[in-house]
Amino acid sequence: MTAMEDLIERAQELADIGAASAVLAWDQETMMPAKAIASRAFQLATLQGIYHERLTHPATGDLVARLSDAPPSVLSATERAMVRELKRERDRAVKVPTELVKRVAEAASRGIEIWRHAREISDFGAFQPALSEMVELKKQVADCVGYEGTPYNALLDEYEPGLTQTQTAEVFAGLRVHTVRLLGDLQSSFRSHDRAILERRYDPDRQLSFTVDVLKSMGYDFQAGRQDLSTHPFTTSFHPQDVRITTRVQERDGASALMGSIHEGGHALYEQGIALALARTPLGSGTSLGIHESQSRLWENFVGRSDPFWEYFYPQFKSAFPDALGDVERDDFLRALNVVSPSLIRVEADEVTYNLHIILRFEIESMLFGNDARVADLPDIWNTKMRDYLGIVPTTAADGVLQDIHWSFGALGYFPTYALGNLYAAQLYATLRKQFPDFDDRLRSGDLVFLREWLRDNIHQFGRTYTASELIVRVTGEPLNPTYLTTYLRTKYGELYGL
Ligand code: ZN
Repeated sequence: MTAMEDLIERAQELADIGAASAVLAWDQETMMPAKAIASRAFQLATLQGIYHERLTHPATGDLVARLSDAPPSVLSATERAMVRELKRERDRAVKVPTELVKRVAEAASRGIEIWRHAREISDFGAFQPALSEMVELKKQVADCVGYEGTPYNALLDEYEPGLTQTQTAEVFAGLRVHTVRLLGDLQSSFRSHDRAILERRYDPDRQLSFTVDVLKSMGYDFQAGRQDLSTHPFTTSFHPQDVRITTRVQERDGASALMGSIHEGGHALYEQGIALALARTPLGSGTSLGIHESQSRLWENFVGRSDPFWEYFYPQFKSAFPDALGDVERDDFLRALNVVSPSLIRVEADEVTYNLHIILRFEIESMLFGNDARVADLPDIWNTKMRDYLGIVPTTAADGVLQDIHWSFGALGYFPTYALGNLYAAQLYATLRKQFPDFDDRLRSGDLVFLREWLRDNIHQFGRTYTASELIVRVTGEPLNPTYLTTYLRTKYGELYGL
């Protein structure tokens, strides 16, 4: 057996252990009876322990070191990428001492409980010590991993390999200025729209079966996946031939199940489209969270909230919900689906204001890790930024700085990938429109599979072979450029709001 074959065999074993954990986690969110929670935690911890042991095993380390140093002629480009990705994951795992990993995990599980309570009583002071501890622990993690500039770079790198704080700040600053201006223009427009149409009664079973119809049109393979219900929609992949999604149905919301399914469907098509030759290797998943999110946002917003899409689907949708939509024209439905209105809560935000919520969090995280702010100051900083960017100020901490669970379990450096997803999606969308002058006509005729095929050919099949920054240049011919998103938003919403 060659060193490369040995490495692949080890990577396959890791992939299988990881997939088994993921099956258990999926089951926990969808099927598992309540009393199984404690036993499931043991099962997951044991599997994660085995995974960590195999990953950090010295023999794996020797192989990675030897193959990383091998002359380029010895390995194919794909093999070199496999070594690179395994090395990346292993380096992080080796550099952070088990003791610190444990302390972060304990702080995370405590943090979630403390945050829940603090949000309930809307008291940031009750959460502050836990958040301070988490920030300190994450700084220690960053020190172990290593970084240039700010420790925040080490955290960003975990979710979006290679991304730096400086780069992100530059891109986000442009996006922020433009979005604030656009929002002002939309708010002073003579037209205003509301969502009331979507808050009528929509039969839950019909909603669910409509999501299935649309997923099939997108080319989601139900022989290699399934859709179940869960509190928070998500996508999980065990293998390109087993990629599952979940959705959530609300009777008084005609759009959230469908938009949620299209979003997760976008993630799932990425994972289903990865070349089988890359399955069970370090390249067998999406390349970064930002690129992953670009797939879900492209489908959800650029396609699923567009007029051509609804020109095809609206007649079917209307006949599925005659009571809710009998008197509603497509134009009015589309406007309801694309209402822009500043909201306090990120997860309820529209396509325009969403990025402002992310930018605000990114700026706060940058300040925390650049020692430009103390945790105690966060409520004030939060409210000031909300006023400056969105023009509204929460009256309670629960609706402000305490609204989101992520910080409580240490997901710091993670939020930027959401806005990156929108930015990448807009750039891909612009390329698509250039390559398919009949893009809208195809959507109007219900053809969505051409889009899946293009994404598969240009992005999906490669898995992690290319990094996000390599991939975006390969596919669109240039590095990340925020003007695609700002142009798209101004064009689309300028039209809808009659600017
Ligand atoms: Zn997503």
